[in-house]
Amino acid sequence: AVELHRITRRFSSAVVAVDSIDLTVPAGAFVTLLGPSGCGKTTTLRMIAGLETPDEGDVMIKGKRMNEVPIHRRNLGMVFQNYALFPHKTIYDNVAFGLKYRDVDKNEIRRRVKHALDIVRLPGVEERFPAQLSGGQQQRIALARALVIEPDVLLLDEPLSALDANLREEMRVELKNIQRRIGVATVFVTHDQGEALAMSDLVVVMNKGHIEQMGAPTEVYEHPGSEFVATFLGNAN
Ligand code: ATP
Repeated sequence: AVELHRITRRFSSAVVAVDSIDLTVPAGAFVTLLGPSGCGKTTTLRMIAGLETPDEGDVMIKGKRMNEVPIHRRNLGMVFQNYALFPHKTIYDNVAFGLKYRDVDKNEIRRRVKHALDIVRLPGVEERFPAQLSGGQQQRIALARALVIEPDVLLLDEPLSALDANLREEMRVELKNIQRRIGVATVFVTHDQGEALAMSDLVVVMNKGHIEQMGAPTEVYEHPGSEFVATFLGNAN
């Protein structure tokens, strides 16, 4: 569903955040970008989202070149680290927000919000406000807001990092189950190898803007392809 063809993003001649990356995210797959701080994970995700334009290369979604297509025309669901629900809006309005600029009638909006809340297993919270929900529940609402548009691609940037350890583990399982159930192509960014191992179909280990190794989680863990991967996985253990 998503193809990156030799995409490069330079912030200056000295900082090549992403250096000619090739990557395919098949329909329905859960792909994780894993690596240390500054390796280019977020910049890669931002190029898929349209928040950043590649200096070279192409971003393709469903076979179409997206480089000049603005973010709101890419049909993406996003949950980012610094996600924020609107504190003064109800959960209904928070989730429905994703549909605001789309030509969707009121009844259909209602149906879709209900469906999205069912998917994240929080039915019936429409009239509440974010502060009346726990951190994990708020995170589910952020996910419902991303899913309500029925996205072609789901982009997740450290979506669990604000949660405490127990909740993180619980949400990891939950998020994976939801992703599998709805079968949406997903790109997940993390520096947490436990998350990468538990959730991914494909793990992409990045280092200094390039791909160091990619493969099924067990493959990458059992057969690190370079010193860097072995050290990174070893240290993080
Ligand atoms: P983290 O896990 O810390 O978020 P990351 O792997 O997501 O790191 P990026 O945020 O993609 O890494 O950053 C890659 C490189 O590009 C880093 O050296 C970073 O300092 C640099 N960079 C990112 N955004 C900008 C920007 N807007 N202007 C200048 N340099 C940037």
